[in-house]
Amino acid sequence: MAAPTAAEQRWLGAARDFFLRALPGPDGQEAAALEAVLRCLRSAGGGTLPLGYSFISISDLQHQQHIPCCSHLSWSTNEFKEWSRQGQGALPMQSTLPRTYLILVGYLADGRQENKEKLVDGCLYVKDKTGIILCELLHFKLEWLESLLVFPSWSYIPQRDQSAAGYLEILVDPVPVNGPKEVLHSIPVTSAVSAEPLLTSRIPYKKRSKLTVAGELTRLGPLLRIHHKTFFFLFLKCFASAVCVPVLVQKPSQMLWHRVFQLGHRYTVTGLSMSSMKKSGQTILVTSASSCLLPYCAEQEREQPLNSAWRGESTQSSCLETAEQLSCSLQLGAEEEKSGPTKESRIISYVGFVTKVLNAQAGLFLLDNQVCLCLAYQPLLSSARGLRPGACVELIDVHLLQKPLASFPFAVLGACLSSMVVLKSFSRLSTPYQPVGSSRSLCLQLLLRFNLGMPLYLWLVSLLETFEERFSCFFGRSRLLSSTHQNPGAAAKFLVPLLQAMVPDRQEARDIYNEILSKIHQCPLQKYLTLTPPCQAPSLSEVRRVAEQRSWEGFSPSQLLSPLEAQHMGTQELNRRLAWSYCTFSAESFQPQLILLGVLRVSSRSSSLQLQDKSSKLPCVISHKDGSPFAQTALIGSLLLVENYQLVVERFLKTDFPSWEHLENLEHVREKKTSVYVQFYLEDVRVLHAAEGRIQKSLRSGNCSSLRKSKDGSTASELETPEAKMLKSEDPRADDGRDENCQGGQSSSTSCVSQLFLVIQKESLMLRNYQLPAEEAKEAQELQRSFQATVLWLGRPRLWSHPREIGDLSELEETGCDGKEGVMQKEALLLFVGRSLRWFPFLHVEGLYRCIVPGCSLTAMSMQTGVEQRAASIPEVLSSSFTGSLVSFCGEIVERTLCASPKNEKPPVMTGVPKKKGTPQHFTLLSTDHSVKLSISAASSSPVVLDVYITATYLQHLRGLLPGAKILFHNLERKISRFHNVYCTYIASSCVSIVSLPASHLPFPSGPAGEASSPSLVFLCNLRPQLSQARILCHLSCVLTVCLQWICSLCSCIFKEGRCTRHNPPCPSQTGVRQASARVLVEDGTGEAVVLCRNEHVAAVLGLSLLEWEAVQNCVQSRGSVCIQHGEAPGTGCLEESEDLVVCYLRSLCRSPLICRPILLDFSLDRKPSKILQPAPPQLRNFRCGEVEFVSRVGPRPSLLCLKVEEVGQDALRYLNSQRRSRTSSSC
Ligand SMILES: [Zn+2]
Ligand SMILES: [Zn+2]
Repeated sequence: MAAPTAAEQRWLGAARDFFLRALPGPDGQEAAALEAVLRCLRSAGGGTLPLGYSFISISDLQHQQHIPCCSHLSWSTNEFKEWSRQGQGALPMQSTLPRTYLILVGYLADGRQENKEKLVDGCLYVKDKTGIILCELLHFKLEWLESLLVFPSWSYIPQRDQSAAGYLEILVDPVPVNGPKEVLHSIPVTSAVSAEPLLTSRIPYKKRSKLTVAGELTRLGPLLRIHHKTFFFLFLKCFASAVCVPVLVQKPSQMLWHRVFQLGHRYTVTGLSMSSMKKSGQTILVTSASSCLLPYCAEQEREQPLNSAWRGESTQSSCLETAEQLSCSLQLGAEEEKSGPTKESRIISYVGFVTKVLNAQAGLFLLDNQVCLCLAYQPLLSSARGLRPGACVELIDVHLLQKPLASFPFAVLGACLSSMVVLKSFSRLSTPYQPVGSSRSLCLQLLLRFNLGMPLYLWLVSLLETFEERFSCFFGRSRLLSSTHQNPGAAAKFLVPLLQAMVPDRQEARDIYNEILSKIHQCPLQKYLTLTPPCQAPSLSEVRRVAEQRSWEGFSPSQLLSPLEAQHMGTQELNRRLAWSYCTFSAESFQPQLILLGVLRVSSRSSSLQLQDKSSKLPCVISHKDGSPFAQTALIGSLLLVENYQLVVERFLKTDFPSWEHLENLEHVREKKTSVYVQFYLEDVRVLHAAEGRIQKSLRSGNCSSLRKSKDGSTASELETPEAKMLKSEDPRADDGRDENCQGGQSSSTSCVSQLFLVIQKESLMLRNYQLPAEEAKEAQELQRSFQATVLWLGRPRLWSHPREIGDLSELEETGCDGKEGVMQKEALLLFVGRSLRWFPFLHVEGLYRCIVPGCSLTAMSMQTGVEQRAASIPEVLSSSFTGSLVSFCGEIVERTLCASPKNEKPPVMTGVPKKKGTPQHFTLLSTDHSVKLSISAASSSPVVLDVYITATYLQHLRGLLPGAKILFHNLERKISRFHNVYCTYIASSCVSIVSLPASHLPFPSGPAGEASSPSLVFLCNLRPQLSQARILCHLSCVLTVCLQWICSLCSCIFKEGRCTRHNPPCPSQTGVRQASARVLVEDGTGEAVVLCRNEHVAAVLGLSLLEWEAVQNCVQSRGSVCIQHGEAPGTGCLEESEDLVVCYLRSLCRSPLICRPILLDFSLDRKPSKILQPAPPQLRNFRCGEVEFVSRVGPRPSLLCLKVEEVGQDALRYLNSQRRSRTSSSC
């Protein structure tokens, strides 16, 4: 042998150092061990030492190697390239493992000696003096255990995080350095044991006698751990009889056998005893401490005839299915699917590559990009090490389930306890390892607890995946998912009730022994039903997207208008009526039903409550069912679940439709926007995770109103901690760390001051001309968004050495604040700017709060609901005797309409205010000169209506003003129009609070205001000014005027022969709109009234059919306008021209005695009569109604607006008249 070169010398020196450090043998034998290893290396390298490689110790590997890598001793570059190339077959986009040049030498161990306490679980380790590391092998021989081995080819998959320990994949069988003699441990592995005991097989089965069984391995059960005991079953087929013998292997030292067994190979097991299963009485063989596993050797052994006890048939391994065959059978299955709802899974075998880890925690892997492997039903003690993308697995006797879940895209191969999952080859790709869920994983826990079938399990996994994705950034994964029976985590609180509803009659628990041993296969995967998920809980951005999409789905502008009205509208009015609409969705509007989940937040930027998840925020409006306002600051930061809600989509349209005829042409829709929010009752909320672990007693006990009436203070709680953190990301400027002081426990020495106050008045949120002292210089010119409240300070400020000490309401009692005299009270105006704007949704009039400084946090102490009673009633506000300009009242919104701001109601000047970045953009499509008119009635059935006008600028912060909602208005300005109508406007000192949400049974409210039921029948003599709508039975005395016109839709000038008649300046309009009006005189025996009819009501009052009406209007088109007046002589109106046909027709119609007839008229009081009526002295007059004559004293004629005209038949007339007479006589 040639003398070693210098390089060799250096290499050998390093090798010696390595051996001393990592592999010190028994005294004085290091040299021998090193020699042996070198011999191995030389022979592997064709006689030369692998000088390009260096030894690596286990500890160095673990600490220095941070990415997956592989090492192949003695491979050429080409060999390695070829190996890599082949490995990319399944996933061509993945990079292969990078190659390192490291020599791994060490001992294989099962971990028992390292840690006596440790449960033996069949894991294998490579160890040296420096450390120990888990390893996976494709083949294992017992004689390798505890012998010094050289590993010629291996991959190292490092630890990624705490959850997954790094491990080795042994790609090529290790080479024993000293041959099998090195065995330190005493498992007899050779044929040294004589065949003698095997020959004693004729002995009948006695309890004590030990048996030896030989046979072919037909099935190998998975390693199981139950009650801290690890074991597995194997099945040997005796050669002659084809009888299958189950053997239970249960001794810790025998767990490694599990790695030795290979299907179809023949083995001999000694030292077995008979036992029978307690439950089924089935007989099995059980290993004893002296049991040995021997390779079967035909010459030495003779088969022992088995008793007929083993009559059972072996499970027949179905033939292997390739990927192509599987696709075929999947298609076949798709056809079969139609036959019946309950499907039977087919048992197949399959070989395929892992192409994706779908969800390691749930044990879901994608094979060959086409079928999902589910390992959840087969506990994997090895945590599926090796199942990285790129690895090849063989599945034997797994269940094939087609479409177990409607929303799950793959067919599923479910491995049960009688299935085998065998790793065929390791991945050659640089893919990470994700451990499958341990018994602590929530989905596996629930799988066992509810004994879930595959469809429900997959659904559960998908819910949990979304849940985790959405909320782990708020609370941390472990806090969300952790779950024990006593203390379920948020995820469990969410999922368990769902599962309880789905699995009402809990199927009996899984009998795992039966599942493994039963001759007729029984397991949860056999039968299944395709599950259509009963509910969903998607991310908020998805909720928003779906709601927006649904709100425009099938939307057409014509839905928003009644065609009868729309055809007479000019351009401006038409487009304004389209500009703002809304629709609402409930949980049931979605398929499957949609559950809302979100963390409750309050934004100081938008001053609104929000539900939040990782994806988005959804503004929300929260009310109490008893009408008290929502003020629970303690809920901020809590994770809420809402199943009962109204999701509101406000739609904003910018359109330029010239007239109603163009409504179908969507080109005229210039811009569409939506604003989505949700409203719900606090009583419908479930708290899944209380903020900062605070227990929401009031919510838990279902007694949500206790906050309001708490005198014991049990519900008083602070809000500081969680929310202070949350806000940081949102508004860093205003958050200069002050709040940290208030965090319980953080700064123990911080003292704070608390002060109680009662809110007397709260004003609206708007830009005000205030400056923060600190920012005076910076933003001297800028208006501050702010709100203010007038409060009453109660008692004196109290000093606390720590915020934690601020207890409950006891101080209230101490200071005697509960309404008694002698309390120090001082009125003050509180201004809320910057960060404290977030208290806007929580502050309510009559609410008692505690303010804590520093940190300026608020706690609602109690809410009085007396406000409602102290407010005026709507009839009071409408009454002319009402004095006072600011009014508060409560009522239900009947109708919401957008209108042009009254000319005298200029909105607060906003011009010149630079738009701040991040200003809420909800109502950007409503121009600021718009305002909304809310018609408020005292109760839904009441005819008395008060109109409230709110300009668009205030609307930004007012959510939930929807028809059907009951609202408490504070401090509106009461005004009287020039027609003596009372109305209210929302001003800077006003505020609203929502008393109740619209009833959810309201019809889809996208159309015009809902049709009210027929109004009550009245007499003309008792009309009261507050009346909004009523009905009279009357006689049409005469038609005073009729006017039919075509007017320009843009400028309202007369439109004639397809052109606008305006010349100066010329009008470009192409569109005319027909309008009609008529004034008729009616009387009902008690009085007389002038009725103004518009458009289609003109036809009704003239008794024209729709066809006749169309014809008449079309005749007007060429004339522009046709008007007639009562009493005008024929020909007087149009002397210069020959008598017009249409005029003639209309005149004769009006004069016809047929027109004077009884009608049923629905009307409202005309609040804007064309001329103000002068009160005339009452006079006596004669009236006729049908055949009846009346003499009556009449006052001035009221002016009515026609809403509906109905013809009255003779029978109906007689009946109504008799009714009237009886009422009149009783009332007169
Ligand atoms: Zn099964
Ligand atoms: Zn015009």
